[in-house]
Amino acid sequence: MAILEEPIKGVPMVKNYIGGEWVESQGEIIDVVNPATCETIGRVGISTKEEIDSAVKAAQEAFYDWRRTPAVTRCRYLFRLGQLLEENFEELSRVQTQEHGKCIDESRGETRRGIENVEVACGIPTLMMGDSSEDVASGIDEYLIRQPLGTFGIIGPFNFPLMIPLWSAPYAVATGNTIVIKPSSEVPFTQTKICELVEEAGFPPGVWNMVHGGRTVVKGMLDHPDIEGITFVGSTPVMRDVIYPACGNTGKRCIAQGGAANILVIMPDCNVDATIPSLLTSFFGNTGQRCLAGQNLVIVGDDDTFYNEFMQRVTDRAASIVVGYGLNESVQMGPVRDAQKKEKILNYIEIGMKEGATLRLDGRKPAKIAGDYPDTCFLGPTILENAHREMRIVREEIFGPTMGVMRAKNLEEAIEICNESPYHNGHAIFTSNGKYARQFQYDVISGNVGVNIGIVAPMAFYPFSGMAGSFLGILHTQGKEAIRFFTESKVCIQRWF
Ligand code: NAD
Repeated sequence: MAILEEPIKGVPMVKNYIGGEWVESQGEIIDVVNPATCETIGRVGISTKEEIDSAVKAAQEAFYDWRRTPAVTRCRYLFRLGQLLEENFEELSRVQTQEHGKCIDESRGETRRGIENVEVACGIPTLMMGDSSEDVASGIDEYLIRQPLGTFGIIGPFNFPLMIPLWSAPYAVATGNTIVIKPSSEVPFTQTKICELVEEAGFPPGVWNMVHGGRTVVKGMLDHPDIEGITFVGSTPVMRDVIYPACGNTGKRCIAQGGAANILVIMPDCNVDATIPSLLTSFFGNTGQRCLAGQNLVIVGDDDTFYNEFMQRVTDRAASIVVGYGLNESVQMGPVRDAQKKEKILNYIEIGMKEGATLRLDGRKPAKIAGDYPDTCFLGPTILENAHREMRIVREEIFGPTMGVMRAKNLEEAIEICNESPYHNGHAIFTSNGKYARQFQYDVISGNVGVNIGIVAPMAFYPFSGMAGSFLGILHTQGKEAIRFFTESKVCIQRWF
């Protein structure tokens, strides 16, 4: 099948968006590489301290008027942005595929989920309402109002270049704050396109800013005294060792979402026909580079016939996945983002085998890549059986298209395996028995819990939860919790004589 048209043409330099102006960074310039073709598709600057300062200053200056803009007016900008996102839906999706590598349908799904956050934030006049009580004491009324705080920093990971910054940005600006977004420098084009649409939607200059770069830019944002709070989505070590302590030290409020190593539990009474496609999407969709991807499977019970037949079907389906460039609509799995990530995944497969797991499906070299592309970033699906709860391939995040398979004698043991994982982002159970489902939901430690759902992605009007090693903070991104995070509650008590 033909490759869809690539939206990024030539090798453009990606610019920062500061105070409504497009500004070329004076910092170090790095290449942006399409992981499927290995071609350089653009360049991006690592913003300097002065550039970060100037973005925060622009955001600070815009804050005074923006917070005084009525919520109904603020949300009209978001309505316009939502409309423009719809009009540019296909282009935005292709940009993601071109710079990230995921299949075009996965990008389209991501664009949809991003737009939904803009739509939910359009409800801000209602969502931001406070509380009130009359006569808390004789003649005294008490009420609560929510006020914006100022400028927020939004730091994104590489794996969802469009959606993840939109878990925060629409809510931050809807509530009257101003923002500085720092997308992952591996995938800077998607948020650049979003900023073009922000500009077209007519947001006042300085409300929505973007600076590109990596860890030095994050440090600059964390140290900045005029940033009130940070939302971060990325790996657990950066969340735990860099972001959360720095926010504590500088008094910033913080939502910090980290890594994952999700476990999917299979009860022998599950609907096998419906479960297998769900598993394949969970483990191998987005090439395993999802914080809600399945990493390990636990098959419950000692029925060897069930186990063997189930695993045979999973293996056959996984082996038939078409690997290639995601702009080819018939491709089912794209490359991983870069050669280092591939190396890390290969290393984990070796570690698993050294620890005693056995290779049932070897994806270290994909059997066939659809199209004529270098294999630099491509892998096929890998299945490792005889995994064990103490192995590194179970306890550490691999973030690639691998499935470790364990067995447990009963549901209690399966839940124990989930709960002793250092990560608690999106564990799931597959069963036809409501009692098992309820027991799992009740006892499992997981911010997002799936019942017959392989990727437990909350809709925009629910918080994107996460617990323990997968999350630090109290409130979460998306929906009502985001509104709480981006506002201060002010309680007023009044009496009139
Ligand atoms: P990452 O932690 O390497 O990078 C995330 C962001 O932090 C990027 O913007 C990056 O530039 C910056 N950064 C990287 N190293 C830094 C450092 N030492 N100091 C300061 N900033 C630094 O993560 P990634 O590889 O871009 O993304 C994949 C990770 O994100 C995975 O662990 C995945 O599970 C996680 N993730 C979590 C969720 C969630 O909701 N919990 C969602 C998506 C991805």
